[in-house]
Amino acid sequence: MEEETKFSSSSSQEKPQELALSLPNNIEKKEKKKPLMTIEGYPIEGLSIAGLETCIIFPSLDLAFDIGRCPQRAVSQNFVFISHAHMDHIGGLPMYVATRGLNRMKPPTIIVPTCIRATVEQLFEVHRQLDGSELRHVLVGLDIGEEIAIRRDLKVKAFRTHHRIRSQGYVVYQVKEKLKQEYRGLSSNEIKSLKSSGVKITDTTSHPEIAFTGDTMSDFILDEGNSDVLKAKILVMECTFVEERVTVEHAREYGHTHLYEEIQEAMSKLEAPLAGRVYTLTEGF
Ligand SMILES: [Zn+2]
Repeated sequence: MEEETKFSSSSSQEKPQELALSLPNNIEKKEKKKPLMTIEGYPIEGLSIAGLETCIIFPSLDLAFDIGRCPQRAVSQNFVFISHAHMDHIGGLPMYVATRGLNRMKPPTIIVPTCIRATVEQLFEVHRQLDGSELRHVLVGLDIGEEIAIRRDLKVKAFRTHHRIRSQGYVVYQVKEKLKQEYRGLSSNEIKSLKSSGVKITDTTSHPEIAFTGDTMSDFILDEGNSDVLKAKILVMECTFVEERVTVEHAREYGHTHLYEEIQEAMSKLEAPLAGRVYTLTEGF
């Protein structure tokens, strides 16, 4: 089982503690009442409770990062990206697929680290044997550095994180096609005929919009291959320990981040406009 898990990107200590003491029944009630939080134009929902469940939902992108115990609001998302196999991040996966099947929804696409793909498929097979259900889904293994397109204008890439077991985070990119400079000024008919003759008339650009780390030590920040993670408009970062009862060393021993690491120091030095952009993801959850 996991250590305490709380998502936080600010130094507020009260709300995570409050959440840590909540029981699942209370959480369900809280979920329905609270409004969506919107950051940089993206509504964000979900929850992350001490060792119980982590599921962060971006409804406008039709995806959830990790599934926790499968909160009701995650069921309507077509895509789920799993960061690692600890129970509080992956436990609700069969329930997610089963609930979608029960509601005759499209089989979802589940993205997992490639190294656990076969085992996750076995997990579904065990449930099929137990109750004879179909559990229809598409299971995709994604390795660090690999990408998957989830919409014409969206792709998601896995990046390296550092936890006690194999783990990875994800960056969502917005993909845009722009007409090449040399073809600007042509009529639409000329562009159409160029396109139909097989000429590539556009340049593809991509911009990191959202990054999600899952459980990790802060070392992922130093990885040169992770520069897009820090460029994203939104970084959802696990910060498991937020107070003095647990030391930074203990947090690192269990593969987590402690707010008292250099992150807290860095955050305390943020200029006012930047500080206003740091949110605790317990608000509105
Ligand atoms: Zn974990």
